[in-house]
Amino acid sequence: MSKFKNAYLQGVYDAVCKRNAGEPEFLQAVMEVLESFEPVVAKYPEYETNGIIDRIVEPERFVQFRVSWVDDSGKVRVNRGFRVQFNSAIGPYKGGLRLHPTVCASVIKFLGFEQCFKNSLTGLPMGGGKGGSDFDPKGKSDGEVMRFCQSFMTELSKHIGADTDVPAGDIGVGGREIGYMFGQYKRLRNEFTGVLTGKGLSYGGSLVRTEATGYGLLYFTQEMLKSMKQDSMSGKTVVISGSGNVAIYATQKAQQLGAKVVALSDSNGYIYDKNGIQLEVVRQIKEVERGRISEYAKRVPGSEYQEGCRGIWSVKCDIALPCATQNELDGKAAQVLVDNGVIAVAEGANMPSTPEAIEIFQKHGVLFGPAKAANAGGVATSGLEMCQNSMRYSWTFEEVDAKLKHIMENIFHNSYNASKEFGAEGNLVMGANIAGFLKISDAMKWQGIAY
Ligand code: GLU
Repeated sequence: MSKFKNAYLQGVYDAVCKRNAGEPEFLQAVMEVLESFEPVVAKYPEYETNGIIDRIVEPERFVQFRVSWVDDSGKVRVNRGFRVQFNSAIGPYKGGLRLHPTVCASVIKFLGFEQCFKNSLTGLPMGGGKGGSDFDPKGKSDGEVMRFCQSFMTELSKHIGADTDVPAGDIGVGGREIGYMFGQYKRLRNEFTGVLTGKGLSYGGSLVRTEATGYGLLYFTQEMLKSMKQDSMSGKTVVISGSGNVAIYATQKAQQLGAKVVALSDSNGYIYDKNGIQLEVVRQIKEVERGRISEYAKRVPGSEYQEGCRGIWSVKCDIALPCATQNELDGKAAQVLVDNGVIAVAEGANMPSTPEAIEIFQKHGVLFGPAKAANAGGVATSGLEMCQNSMRYSWTFEEVDAKLKHIMENIFHNSYNASKEFGAEGNLVMGANIAGFLKISDAMKWQGIAY
């Protein structure tokens, strides 16, 4: 059964399914993007002649490697490492590294594919890449994490470089892991370069990088509310899933903008605090103790903990910000949010809403900010870190924050304008995909065909 109106898109999608059978996350991400291209391909048939879309769905390079390391008991452990270098049309490959047991080729490819469009939307010169490993940092000692990161970088260092491919953090990779990897790269190459972003401030990191994804998400949401509903974050009740780096700084910025965040989660369950989350308690548990979110309910009177992370979407709210992981918000959860009167949803995680969930939000007029646009603040600030590294200079917190805010507002408007130009005003999924794509495809067209 044909899914696409356009035969070229259908042909590309069929070929992707054949080549990447058994990779559901990657196919899901490709399907969503190709659907958005219907009006673009109808208007510009040269995309077919130039094979632009056939090329954009196939990574330029995909590396898989063995990572062996020694645990604290002296036993040798083996994990699988990945780096996908998806598209370098507009700049060096750029994208995070994820350390999580669910990491596999499909997950890395979906993330790398989305990264191309996200990075393009930032307006900065960054191509798309992604990497990681099925190593689980949970429950590992500092020494084990260090030995893993060093071994991982020993292989990865052969494929990256400040002008080639610049990795950063993602789930399971924060300042600690970036530090160990940076140290190992420097040792191997005897070079102090901006080969990674998310570095510590004492060795080339940028102010605001830690806060950037969460802050950026709120700058985007604020602009979306203002432009599309003449509304603001002030006085809103907010539910944020996750309790990692993105969720923590989304909570902080939401609170600064006058909203009340009432729920957070981790992979085991969620907390509800009707008085508003006390962020200092969360930061102590997650950032200092690396503990579970259930601890919060033991420490804050009046709050409660519920087993099962998906239950968080049953908490009544005005704004929902999924900031945990892919496919965490399905059609059923979306319907519950709609029934409870949600007015806006913006994605802090990558692909957290299933296609069914997105359809329900759009059908009911809920403002929907897709990940590629709404969570681009992290990589945008990585781009600003690269810029500062190249200048051998650093900007103040206020300077970086102002640039981040400006970039997020631009992303909203560019996505909105593209949705309008291509006949789907207000559909930001379509607008973000198209706006991100047009720059990449133009660069590809001008650079000729070699791979
Ligand atoms: N992992 C983040 C993302 O999904 C940030 C990537 C980066 O800073 O390179 O966009």
